Amino acid sequence: MYDLLIREAVIYDGSGRDPFTGDLAVQGDTIVAVGPSVEGDARRVIDARGLAIAPGFIDIHGHSDYYLLINPTAEAKVRQGVTTDVGGNCGYAAAPIGGPELEERRKLYPGAIRARSSLQPVGRVFASC
Ligand SMILES: [Zn+2]
Repeated sequence: MYDLLIREAVIYDGSGRDPFTGDLAVQGDTIVAVGPSVEGDARRVIDARGLAIAPGFIDIHGHSDYYLLINPTAEAKVRQGVTTDVGGNCGYAAAPIGGPELEERRKLYPGAIRARSSLQPVGRVFASC
């Protein structure tokens, strides 16, 4: 039994081929079946007629570095379909950073700098600068 079965959606599989109408099954956090018709039951079934399924979008230039420190779950981006965010655009990354530049960023993004202690990998980078 699947955890989730989405039926009769227009599926864009990310390969570049034409979309097709079909089903998609999820077990845990993994897509386990995709096709014109997926057999089986699920704990939750979504009738997706008139809706589309697509792989997550990659935001290649969002300047989200500090936004993600302030709001690590990034619900606004996820709701738009963004599942991958490229940081450090235009030489403006949240880490590594130190000295006067760190103090300047503390003024610009006080919420982000406060939040860093809960993000250990980034926090360690800040601490080592
Ligand atoms: Zn930029």
